[in-house]
Amino acid sequence: MSKRDYYDILGVSKNATADELKKAYRKMAIKYHPDKNPDNKEAEEKFKEAAEAYEVLRDPQKKARYDQYGHAGMSGSAGFGGGGGGMSMDDIFSHFGDIFGGAFGGGGFGGGFSSQGGRRTRVNRGSNLRVKVKLTLPEIANGVEKKIKLKKYVPCDSCNGSGAERGSGKSTCTTCNGHGQVRQVTNTFLGQMQTTSTCPTCNGEGEIITNKCNVCHGNGIVKGDDVVSIKIPAGVAEGMQLSVSGKGNHAARGGVPGDLLVQIVEEEHPDLIRDENNLLYDLYINFVDAALGTTVEVPTIDSKARIKITPGTQGGKVLRLKGKGIPDVNGYGRGDILVNVNIWTPRTLSKEEAEILEKLRNSPNFKPAPSAKDRSYFDRMREFFS
Ligand SMILES: [Zn+2]
Ligand SMILES: [Zn+2]
Repeated sequence: MSKRDYYDILGVSKNATADELKKAYRKMAIKYHPDKNPDNKEAEEKFKEAAEAYEVLRDPQKKARYDQYGHAGMSGSAGFGGGGGGMSMDDIFSHFGDIFGGAFGGGGFGGGFSSQGGRRTRVNRGSNLRVKVKLTLPEIANGVEKKIKLKKYVPCDSCNGSGAERGSGKSTCTTCNGHGQVRQVTNTFLGQMQTTSTCPTCNGEGEIITNKCNVCHGNGIVKGDDVVSIKIPAGVAEGMQLSVSGKGNHAARGGVPGDLLVQIVEEEHPDLIRDENNLLYDLYINFVDAALGTTVEVPTIDSKARIKITPGTQGGKVLRLKGKGIPDVNGYGRGDILVNVNIWTPRTLSKEEAEILEKLRNSPNFKPAPSAKDRSYFDRMREFFS
């Protein structure tokens, strides 16, 4: 029987990248994996064939030889011998174990071979806890310390978190002899196969509680309340997440607690709109103030500021209150408050008001005469959309 082309085996082109090769091999390896195809000689051959092809094509030197001489170039040098399939199943798994990590993780074939003899008991880890914290604009701008009440798993008082009834202890798990893992030897068409899995008796902990605490039923944790104080730095923004290490749920039987993940929610300010570290404010003045000039009050984060409107101010002018915005969360300066000037046109007029304005209608200075400077808004928009 002549050997199949390595590229055909993996179903890739000669120009396949390393990543494509890996993906193609992984697909084949999963399809013909012995766990999925027990007692199937043909699948086993395909599985070995794919491994051999991948072994050659992933190595640039071997690939080059194969591209030039075909299978003839491989005998001896690649370690497969002339007959093909010279790789044993153990070779395949020790070479490409990572390929199976995702698909056959946990048990069996993929991961288990590296830790033989080692004690790998599992340490319990508490789960992470997520909370949302709503902050006002001043809190965001100045930074704040928040006390947050949490419902979470806390150590059981009755047994001090051990899970064992007072006075009783733990004993080494007899199923796994304290290793936390059990090995099974099964007979398959490939010969004896050894698999390792988490000990079902002790859940991988290596010990079992002789007399369980009757408050927490041996878990060592109970639902309880906690108050956590969190320092929130100035400049945080909606959606940011702060992580407080070790303040999440406690772990069963004295393991490592999870983290508290704090998600920032911004409370809307009645007047100021946040735009990154700048704050936008829409100011409305009437056209008399715009024409004659005036002083107006605008809100700032913590109080108010007075700003001057110069005579002849046009609508759309943006006034900048430098450094009155939000401080950068990483400490790079501070944003501004941008005051967008809108000219308010009266919606209704009394007879008297209308008469005054009527007199001004054809007054020379009321005739619009925009200069290039006044068109800058459109220039900006044009830039923005181009
Ligand atoms: Zn307890
Ligand atoms: Zn055990």
